[in-house]
Amino acid sequence: MLMIIKLGGSVITDKNKYMTADKKNIARLAKEIAEARKKGKFDLIIVHGAGSFGHMPVKKHGIKEGVYNEKQRIGFADTNYSCSILSQHVVSALLKEEIPAIVVTPLTVLDHSDKKLKKFDTDVISALLKAGYVPVMRGDVVLDDVRGGSISSGDEQVPYLAKELHAQRVVYGVDVDGVFTADPKTNKKAKLIPLITKGNIGKVLHSLEEAKTHDVTGGMKGKINELLHNAVVPIHIVNARKPNYLKKMLMGDEVTHTKISLN
Ligand code: ADP
Repeated sequence: MLMIIKLGGSVITDKNKYMTADKKNIARLAKEIAEARKKGKFDLIIVHGAGSFGHMPVKKHGIKEGVYNEKQRIGFADTNYSCSILSQHVVSALLKEEIPAIVVTPLTVLDHSDKKLKKFDTDVISALLKAGYVPVMRGDVVLDDVRGGSISSGDEQVPYLAKELHAQRVVYGVDVDGVFTADPKTNKKAKLIPLITKGNIGKVLHSLEEAKTHDVTGGMKGKINELLHNAVVPIHIVNARKPNYLKKMLMGDEVTHTKISLN
């Protein structure tokens, strides 16, 4: 059984502080994943968001719309460097919990064309899984044959991986309890939507506002939009800032969250 976990940038970084990892949370989540893995015996891919290691450098260097000159190429390389540092924090915590985590740098396996996924070669990820490793991917910059370079979010990668590699369980850890009728951080009347299906997806997308953070890849709305293309298995969105929520979700226990089932 293959499980995919997305660790949101909102959970593993302080999204408002430049290149600031939430090491405490990363360590706790690594422990939860290790505990669930010991009990459940499943293959695992971890994809982490870039948080303040990605969105802020992209803005600072002005490369959101493309990479066309040497100054922007330095910005592209600097963003890739910065995202790789966040991966090191994540992998270091996973290794401490004896999870054999190996980073697969997005630009070595996927390309964009005009900000959209053009090619994603999952062979090395399959090979790593087969050899008993836990591949780790992340939101990062990738080459783009129209714009020179663009941003591949973890939210873009996860649904593709789930479809291509036939994942049975996909869990997104974020910093809120799931998808709400409005941003729960700014609207006290926001209500949790426990189940999103083809029947209410239109309404949900309509009510979703772009997250007012430094997110350059669309926040919660971007996340759900990506699911529309490759939704083959149900996706569970859970609050990974609350202790044991991710672990319980991985083990199939019921916790408050949003399930998105679009097939
Ligand atoms: P991550 O970077 O962890 O993947 P995102 O920033 O992309 O997370 O999405 C989670 C954020 O989306 C939350 O912090 C929340 O403030 C914001 N958000 C905006 N609208 C909604 C909504 N309707 N329901 C839930 N979260 C929302």
